[in-house]
Amino acid sequence: MPGGLWVDHDIHDNGPMDLHLTSKLPHIGTTIFTVMSALAAAHDAINLSQGFPDYDGPPELKARVKHYIDKGFNQYPPMAGVLGLREAIAAKVQRCYGAVVSPDTEITVTPGATEAIYCAITAICRTGDEVVMFDPAYDSYEPAVTLCGARPVRLPLQPPDYRVDWQRVADAITPRTRMLIINSPHNPTGTILTRDDMLILEQLADQHNLIVCADEVYEHLVFDGARHESVLRYPGLAARAFAVSSFGKTYHVTGWKTGYCVAPPALTQELRRVHQFVTFVGITPIQWGLADFLREHPDHLDTLPAFYQRKRDVFNAALKSSRFKLTPSAGTFFQLADYSEISELPDQAFVRWLTVEKGVAAIPLSVFYETPPEGRYVRFCFCKEEETLRRGAARLAAL
Ligand code: PMP
Ligand code: GLN
Repeated sequence: MPGGLWVDHDIHDNGPMDLHLTSKLPHIGTTIFTVMSALAAAHDAINLSQGFPDYDGPPELKARVKHYIDKGFNQYPPMAGVLGLREAIAAKVQRCYGAVVSPDTEITVTPGATEAIYCAITAICRTGDEVVMFDPAYDSYEPAVTLCGARPVRLPLQPPDYRVDWQRVADAITPRTRMLIINSPHNPTGTILTRDDMLILEQLADQHNLIVCADEVYEHLVFDGARHESVLRYPGLAARAFAVSSFGKTYHVTGWKTGYCVAPPALTQELRRVHQFVTFVGITPIQWGLADFLREHPDHLDTLPAFYQRKRDVFNAALKSSRFKLTPSAGTFFQLADYSEISELPDQAFVRWLTVEKGVAAIPLSVFYETPPEGRYVRFCFCKEEETLRRGAARLAAL
């Protein structure tokens, strides 16, 4: 469905009283992640759709958060986030990307990456602005742009390699283009941007004075020895970018909804102007607990590529004999699969059938496009125990 999401007519039903509502997001329904997880639960399917682990965060991290709850760290933190956490983030950013950033003026802790992305977009974009993004696009970008009165310019990434066609980007830029949204490692395709991509982007952004919103929530989930090309490694890009991260992915605690945004002082000031009135702050004891854990276990990050690469490999190996065609994911905890040898159903019908009849839930790819290209693809999530992956893959291999 163009616009990317399934429309849930229940939420558009005005009930007995006609309120004369004109929706500001008429094409948006309930997100595919909620829809598919609910369908999986209703049919007791193995849920390889929405991206969340079926294992827990580190015990020491949970212990630190419990400690701070018990010690009474339960009131509002500073609007920009607990200072100790911002300092730990600054140390991490320097260690990972060689960038020196100020905890005072360049780091903001947010209730999840979603809030940071929303605040970055709404802080910058105005009516009539154009925002370039790449389809398939994570589902939160387009509504944020639309709510600003700006126009999403959605450039499709073509299967099977989903590389950015930078000439096409250059051609799409107009005097109205204000922002460009990138996401690497990329959800849902599992591709990553290279150093060459970043250098071209740096040059284009400079030439056209664009602000870059870099969704880097899977920054530590990069495989086969590749390096994550953060905007923070490129001074020319870092000077005009919001770099957004999520502790949910990095510490296996998606439900804690805690992330952060690194941006130069002028952008951080604009982000905070919005953030302070969207949510004001994130959750206090979680921020204190994360601050301790980041300081005491910096090595946790180094374990993640191998941890997730193994899960990818277990899942893909178990599908080797299947009729799904896979190009191994280069990053994220998602694996795309071409099911064209299995079914002629369109992807949304296919995932319903797969969930209801075969007991495995997946995400259809077309919902992340404005205009889906040819091809039949679904996304599987592999941030699951190996036993879950094997059970899921066994069902898929039998198709
Ligand atoms: N961006 C992408 C690409 C994601 O996959 C997610 C996952 N939920 C988010 C942003 C949002 O992260 P958070 O849960 O921290 O809001
Ligand atoms: N980012 C997760 C995914 O892509 C889902 C997050 C959500 O449900 N909003 O599966």
